[in-house]
Amino acid sequence: PRDSDADVDVVVIGAGQAGLSTAYGLLRQGFEPHTGFVVLDADDAPGGAWQHRWPSLTLTTTHRVHDLPGLPFTPDDDTAPAVESVPAYYAVYERHFDLPVIRPVRVTGVRRTGDDRFRVETDAGAWTARAVVNATGTWTRPFVPRYPGQETFRGRQLHTVDYRVPEEFHGQHVVVVGGGASATQLLGEISRVASTTWVTRREPVWRDDPFDEDAGRAAVALVEEAVREGRRPGSVVGVTGLLTSTPYVRDGLDRGVLERRPMFDRITPDGVEWADGTVVRADVILWATGFRAAVGHLAPLHLRAPGGGIRMDGTHVAGEPRLHLVGYGPSASTIGANRAGQSAARQLRRLLRPDLARTA
Ligand code: FAD
Repeated sequence: PRDSDADVDVVVIGAGQAGLSTAYGLLRQGFEPHTGFVVLDADDAPGGAWQHRWPSLTLTTTHRVHDLPGLPFTPDDDTAPAVESVPAYYAVYERHFDLPVIRPVRVTGVRRTGDDRFRVETDAGAWTARAVVNATGTWTRPFVPRYPGQETFRGRQLHTVDYRVPEEFHGQHVVVVGGGASATQLLGEISRVASTTWVTRREPVWRDDPFDEDAGRAAVALVEEAVREGRRPGSVVGVTGLLTSTPYVRDGLDRGVLERRPMFDRITPDGVEWADGTVVRADVILWATGFRAAVGHLAPLHLRAPGGGIRMDGTHVAGEPRLHLVGYGPSASTIGANRAGQSAARQLRRLLRPDLARTA
């Protein structure tokens, strides 16, 4: 830890797709690495959340990982684990542009100073900054809903973030909870070694065609509206209720493992139970129930709107043009994060450093 705060124009928090595209944008806008901006990242290595995904997730099973701006992603093998290929790409990217990423540095709190700056407090000293771009994603805030009897369950409960390989569940009965892409993918692989029950709150709606641009734009617009009104952003599946039937989904449908039941009403020591008395015995409950935005360190800024989210105006917090959230709400995808990061960087140059010359 340093004796005094380091002072910069912009602190970017997080070095996933959102933080890296912001850093690239800041560089392009003429901000000086280290003295003008830094990127603080809690992980030990490059890769953002991709370094923590389960090993069977590959680029062919993801929805698509878009290139970061300025340097194409050219993996040798699309069937290699994304947990390896994406972090390797991010590592090359950081080196190629010599981005000022400092790690491991965990931000513990962001507060306002008396002189209209932000103070970014970390486990490695503090930074003061005229602006903050928060790009901390969601991976560190898995969401598990509460059900009566949950604490009495004698089997194993885990969330998507804890999932590794299906073999762990060999011969067991696994209840998979959740209606998103993770749930369908994990069901597909677990059902090959274990028996499964799938429960979702809503009836899934399948679409055969991959999300085309219009459908994608319409879904993003719904999330945009939610965050403009200060509601908690949902995932694209959450807001549209649509699931794309990718090859692994079609396979699951063919094998009958995607027969969905409505949400159970309580958890018993041995399984789950519906109000009509139906019981399913279970060894494992896998909560594929999504994530919340990892913004606990922003609590001192009191941003929470009555709707449970943060009221946004484009990429910045409403009324706070020097506080951007990239990878939040409508930009919570690799392509959305690319656009939002560069847009935030442009806005910050105009606001803080109109003197700077953009680089090519
Ligand atoms: P992250 O990659 O999570 O990066 C956040 C960074 O912030 C991390 O490095 C973390 O260490 C750091 N951080 C967090 N808290 C702090 C703190 N307090 N202090 C300092 N640093 C901190 N999107 C797609 O576009 N295509 C896909 O195929 C796709 N597949 C997905 C599959 C799964 C299973 C999941 C869960 C999501 C998927 N997504 C996909 C969404 C995806 O997560 C985002 O698109 C994108 O990778 C998120 O980037 P990010 O930079 O916002 O967050």
